[in-house]
Amino acid sequence: MKKSASKKINQRTKAIHGKYTTSAWQFDKHLIPPLTSSTTFRLESLERGAQGFIEFADGSVSEKPILIYDRLDEPSTLMLEEQLAQMESAACAVSFGSGMGAISAALMATTKSGDEILAHRTLYGCTYSLLSNWLPRLGINTSFVNLNDPVMSKLLKNKKVRVIYCESVSNPSLEIIDLVNLVSLVKAENKTRSKAEKINIIVDNTFATPWGMRPLDLGVDFVVQSLTKNICGFGTEMGGAILARNTSYAHQLKMIRKDFGGIIHPWSAWHILVYGISTQSLRFEQQQKNAMMVAQFLAKHPKVEQVVYPGLSTHPQYKLAKTLLKSPEGKFAPGFMISFRLKGNEKTCASFVNDIAKNSYAITLAVSLGLTKTLIEVPGFMTHSAIPSKKQKETNLNPRDIRLSIGLESIDDLLNDLDAALGKLKINV
Ligand SMILES: *Cc1c(COP(=O)(O)O)cnc(C)c1O
Repeated sequence: MKKSASKKINQRTKAIHGKYTTSAWQFDKHLIPPLTSSTTFRLESLERGAQGFIEFADGSVSEKPILIYDRLDEPSTLMLEEQLAQMESAACAVSFGSGMGAISAALMATTKSGDEILAHRTLYGCTYSLLSNWLPRLGINTSFVNLNDPVMSKLLKNKKVRVIYCESVSNPSLEIIDLVNLVSLVKAENKTRSKAEKINIIVDNTFATPWGMRPLDLGVDFVVQSLTKNICGFGTEMGGAILARNTSYAHQLKMIRKDFGGIIHPWSAWHILVYGISTQSLRFEQQQKNAMMVAQFLAKHPKVEQVVYPGLSTHPQYKLAKTLLKSPEGKFAPGFMISFRLKGNEKTCASFVNDIAKNSYAITLAVSLGLTKTLIEVPGFMTHSAIPSKKQKETNLNPRDIRLSIGLESIDDLLNDLDAALGKLKINV
């Protein structure tokens, strides 16, 4: 077993074969790793058991991990982590039971009472709730700002700021954060700070996925992913992961997971590893192809007021999108998410979405995204309802915005269903 994935091998192939050899399982017997379930592991001696606890506690990485208990480490999650790290060129990856589990652990690891966070104004609703409802109880406060605004650089001078948090492509407004610029601003500020006071940049890469962007390559410190979305891709498992640029936090992240308990179930880790990761590039590219055609169709429709899709030249940051959103093979990767607004009022929006829920065959009213099935939802009333309505304006959220996650259906059936629902709307155009 000497084979291993060299730098020369393409991401598309690595996603299928992984590291080939791993200390977590013997691939010389299995083509596919077995789905195992054992909460505890047999230890051949007290000394080996004690050694396992010492290694976990001091974070030393041994050639053959001593497995003790599922909440510490487990073969399927170890293999999932190795594979995720490879997909985003991370020094290490730590998995969690959900995307929110990963996000909360990443913030726990990088802040303490009295620290402050600068977060982009538009964020996934539960992340907004975590930052505005729960972290303040621990003395960690967040300012929501526009990270693309040049005056932002002044805010970095505040020595209490320890974390910059954003989504590479924001949910749901599809704003793109200029991570190259952000990294260079933070680097300059960090030069003036001691090691203990350095600012970390954490980027939620769920919308872009590793196939659309690799923020660690751009210099950010941590990527967080909801594996529940496109990486699993089939709508069957929940999971999350933190990917780190260097290994200095790896141990702490595992300790946080051990003590807060937010592990991923081995069943979910296995399915995401075996089915999700190996097919992600294929699904992503087909979904993206469909999304481009849906976006173009909506943009031309007289009853549609606006369409936001990074693949359309009308996207306010189209140029930035073209430089940042790229597949590992260098192709433009605007993704599979679309936000659009109908002419008319909130009632028009509701009657359209209800008509889709009732009559569309190919499009389903449901939250989540990145799945094989096309999903529609209204963030202001659903995924982002944790943001109070008077705050939604500041966060660039319009209650009439409709979010589409495009699936793998035939494009004709998607367009027919949208066309039928639009045709029934009574608005003057
Ligand atoms: C869904 C989502 C999350 C949360 O992930 P879960 O797996 O549902 O916990 C975080 N960030 C973004 C951008 C998401 O879309």
